[in-house]
Amino acid sequence: MSNLVSKWNYPTTIRFGAGRIKELPDVLKEVGMSNPLFVTDPGLAKLPVVASTLKLLDDAGVAYGVFSDVKPNPVESNLYAGVEVFKAGKHDGIIAFGGGSALDLGKLIAFQAHQSRPVWDFEDIGDWWTRADASKIAPIVAVPTTAGTGSEVGRAGVLTHEASHTKKVIFHPKMLPAIVIADPELTAGMPAFITAGTGMDALAHCLEAYCAPGYHPMADGIAVEGVRLVFENLPKAYADGSDLVARAHMMSAAAMGATAFQKGLGAIHSLSHPLGALYDCHHGMTNAVFMPYVLAFNRSAIEERIERLAAYCGIAGGFDGFAAAVLALRTTLNVPHTLPEFIKDFAPDDARRNLIADMAIVDPTAGGNPIELTKDGALTLLDNAIAGK
Ligand code: NAD
Repeated sequence: MSNLVSKWNYPTTIRFGAGRIKELPDVLKEVGMSNPLFVTDPGLAKLPVVASTLKLLDDAGVAYGVFSDVKPNPVESNLYAGVEVFKAGKHDGIIAFGGGSALDLGKLIAFQAHQSRPVWDFEDIGDWWTRADASKIAPIVAVPTTAGTGSEVGRAGVLTHEASHTKKVIFHPKMLPAIVIADPELTAGMPAFITAGTGMDALAHCLEAYCAPGYHPMADGIAVEGVRLVFENLPKAYADGSDLVARAHMMSAAAMGATAFQKGLGAIHSLSHPLGALYDCHHGMTNAVFMPYVLAFNRSAIEERIERLAAYCGIAGGFDGFAAAVLALRTTLNVPHTLPEFIKDFAPDDARRNLIADMAIVDPTAGGNPIELTKDGALTLLDNAIAGK
């Protein structure tokens, strides 16, 4: 029994269901926020979904500010601009509204606004988070509008360090949103490409968490049901964005993936992060491209687990059947099969290939891969995803 030691965290309150965004003013009262900063991204800021949400605040007489200078794969300058706006407006909390980029940046503003150290001192390394003054972290209400990253239930924010072109994970337990409103109606307007990419991100989270080594049967249980929900519902949400039942199940799968990945992630993410930082490509879609290559690479360590997963999901044929189902799902969603099909002019020279592999093996997710991710292994995976084999 000696290795049955672990740490489990499931504390988020989620108000789940279509139309529940109407409860936002009540939620703000519940967490004691009277002057929130509403953080979203510039694309969403132009859409009716933001206007109708801000109208709810206007109608309830809530004072608020809006910050939308958030890049996809947000960067440090976005964070410090947001911190300035937060302080200047004397805001007392954050409404993080959007996909993973806006959710992460909103959470990071709430975290960083009143810290005296630079944000990079709180990278998810060892116990660096204990350097932060937890009493100064502002409360967060998270409202996801994509169904993939699960950032709404997570205690971290991903931020790109522009100087070194690396994506860093900033972690603090108190970065966890106080309350989440998960309203599938908010995701109905997602373009098909984003539906596919974010949905595959949820699948990557569930799959990698389930395959990560370590004792965490609660995460494993959540992850397998998350995988089943994605296979059943992502093609429906992709084919008909207004299918609110499929949207709802995808929203659950996204939150489940991020809940499960406290157990660990793996090489899909270790390779996806450098590409996101270097090429600014969509995170979930990059995961989707790498997924079959990493599955095959890890086969010897995960075959039995995947057989059980396939059986649970009703997929025949054991490991091979599951791998074929992943390929078929990618085809249905028009996921590019290779990196050159995905990233325009992608033809890295040796120096660039080595750089990507070096970045992958030090990525914090690499330790969760079921087979040790060596530099040779990372290069093999990269080359396979380039050649499509
Ligand atoms: P995103 O937030 O970058 O959004 C992608 C695009 O979709 C944007 O143009 C946005 O305007 C648009 N969009 C979002 N919701 C929409 C809607 N309802 N209707 C129409 N358009 C909509 O994409 P994402 O995949 O949700 O997030 C990716 C980011 O999340 C990356 O930066 C990644 O590193 C990060 N991430 C964080 C975690 C975490 O645990 N914190 C996990 C995975 C990924």
